[in-house]
Amino acid sequence: MNRESIVAKKKFGQNFLKDQSVLRQIVEAMPKNDHKIVEIGPGLGDLTKFLVDVKSVEAFEVDTDLCKLLQSIFKKEIATKRLCINCGDVLKAWQSELVSEPYDLVANLPYYIATNIILKALADPMCKNILVMVQLEVAEKFCATEGEKVFGSLGIIAQSVGTAKIVTKVPPTAFDPQPKVDSAVFLIEKSTDRNDKEFEDMLRVAFSQPRKTLVKNLSVKYDKRVLQEALEKLELALTVRPHQVSTNDYHQLYKLTRSLDGRRDTRGSTK
Ligand code: SAM
Repeated sequence: MNRESIVAKKKFGQNFLKDQSVLRQIVEAMPKNDHKIVEIGPGLGDLTKFLVDVKSVEAFEVDTDLCKLLQSIFKKEIATKRLCINCGDVLKAWQSELVSEPYDLVANLPYYIATNIILKALADPMCKNILVMVQLEVAEKFCATEGEKVFGSLGIIAQSVGTAKIVTKVPPTAFDPQPKVDSAVFLIEKSTDRNDKEFEDMLRVAFSQPRKTLVKNLSVKYDKRVLQEALEKLELALTVRPHQVSTNDYHQLYKLTRSLDGRRDTRGSTK
């Protein structure tokens, strides 16, 4: 198996990054620490080469042809345990603990499962930072702040655990084969392990109809009077739209609706 005989497989989201300056930019943007690197989808190993130069790497690749190629390219690094290649679907591997030590995720992700992978990494207490290439539109959602049109549950979940910023935008010409969309590398530096399934459920309902008011959306889940009281306490207008509320206010709203709802229940309200 050699590099020239590899044909990119669409079903695995294979768009190999060729642009050396983008590869270097990714490595330069890596947070400075002694965490292990997890690379999802090493592909032909072009990013992996840069990564094993600076850190030890645990890689997950689903394509068996690519696994064989990587095993021959990185014989020395595998023998010295600088690199470990796990051949298989990373989402299956993630059904239990992915890696048992602190790690940073650094990858050019397969776009068809990129959001899912990032949400899993955000919820994984062993994952400390996330530096990934994804479709530009997805990167913008994770990095958006309140008031921006694309601000939604992804931006709030990212901001709830740390900070998120775009490192660089990348055109289709940087890849072979070229994707149909623009891409971007972005960085989430985690500072806490907040991971609350119920809070995320509230966000999904809050943004279910982004143009409607927040009260209208959330009234599917919460009593309308509880919502009105909570918004008043936060000094938010009843007409506020979901993208106009800050991450901090969403957390306050979550706490308030829980405590006000509880109070109404104990009073035997008309709910
Ligand atoms: N890192 C390489 C690069 O930058 O050129 C390849 C990136 S390519 C966009 C995505 C890679 O993820 C491919 O190698 C693909 O086979 C791999 N991949 C796709 N689905 C996967 C999965 N479920 N688990 C692990 N790897 C996967």
